[in-house]
Amino acid sequence: MDYKQYIKSVMDFPTKGINFRDITSLLEDGKVYRSAIDELAQFARERQAEVIVGPEARGFVIGGPLAYALTTGFVPVRKPGKLPRDVVSVSYEKEYGTDQLCIHRQSIKPGQRMLVTDDLLATGGTIDATIKLVEQLGGKVVGVAFLIELTELSGRSLLKDYNVFSLIKY
Ligand code: 5GP
Repeated sequence: MDYKQYIKSVMDFPTKGINFRDITSLLEDGKVYRSAIDELAQFARERQAEVIVGPEARGFVIGGPLAYALTTGFVPVRKPGKLPRDVVSVSYEKEYGTDQLCIHRQSIKPGQRMLVTDDLLATGGTIDATIKLVEQLGGKVVGVAFLIELTELSGRSLLKDYNVFSLIKY
């Protein structure tokens, strides 16, 4: 399937000079959304993933349906102050300053085969932070899956130790 025709590119969003790849137009089409999830699920199946992990908010839109398709659990990674139980957190560099992501401390069993997912790979900062949280809890990252990869930003170089799959490349 030619997924690119379902992604809308929005110039100068959220700030000047950024060409934002909007996935909501793909999500609006049930057959296309399902087909994309099915392809990511196939990758996760091949990697024998036992649990899916995704960062808020668009990682939930991919990770939730993936977990449903595979009958695995889903573990959310969130900004500080959102998860109600004891968390582990990690700081990471963003374009302007640092940010933090958190995961419930008891959400992963040591050695569990984890598939980490998000809608889009840009510089890789978000997914790298998510992976660090998973590994801090003893999870084994068996695959990393994206709907979209912005290849020019070389996020993949941060992920060279992992098995990475992306459905759409720009
Ligand atoms: P990174 O941390 O790899 O630099 O940026 C990826 C994160 O920022 C993802 O969580 C993603 O949702 C968001 N992001 C950055 N640029 C875009 C974009 O052009 N489109 C969408 N949909 N998300 C983006």
